[in-house]
Amino acid sequence: DSEDENPDKQLKIVIMGDGASGKTSLAVRYSQENFGKQYKQTVGLDFFLRRIVLPGNIHVALQLWDIGGQTLGGGMLDKYIFGAHGILLVYDITNYQSFDNLEDWYEKIREVCKDQPKLPHIALVANKSDLEHMRTVKQEKHQRFATENGFTSHFVSAKTGDSVNLCFQKISAEILGIK
Ligand code: GDP
Repeated sequence: DSEDENPDKQLKIVIMGDGASGKTSLAVRYSQENFGKQYKQTVGLDFFLRRIVLPGNIHVALQLWDIGGQTLGGGMLDKYIFGAHGILLVYDITNYQSFDNLEDWYEKIREVCKDQPKLPHIALVANKSDLEHMRTVKQEKHQRFATENGFTSHFVSAKTGDSVNLCFQKISAEILGIK
């Protein structure tokens, strides 16, 4: 049938960054359209799934891999990063440390991917934009980090949903080379 003729493109997107930056909230918001509801704690290699249609009638099945509470030293990280088409580097705009640590997360990605022909597409994602009044990371710092490393960048809120769809759509389109 037509589904066999036009199969979904499968993309693996990994959501990384410090604990409490809002990674799980983003994955839940995007895949289930809600925020703050109780859900299963992230353990093992669970992922969230969402299907979208991009311009050109391109059907995409997005696998969102949430690294959960794993830290940079975590032994499982390699398994998450391996084979990723895209990575969201997420920080909390009210927590400077979570932004500062993204250098180390990025280094980890480069280390794991050192034998691959190219790095996954990476997006810098500033979360909790609903807490603008508590921002501790200056926008220009964000921009500089994104520009220096060639990341696309987003300001989102998993809480309100602001710009969340756009962020995932954009990285998917970038991966697939769709304008
Ligand atoms: P993770 O450890 O990176 O997966 O972070 P969580 O998704 O568990 O979120 C950590 C905390 O931040 C929780 O209390 C969330 O409710 C809260 N949180 C996540 N995203 C947002 C957001 O966009 N705005 C606000 N105000 N709080 C958020």
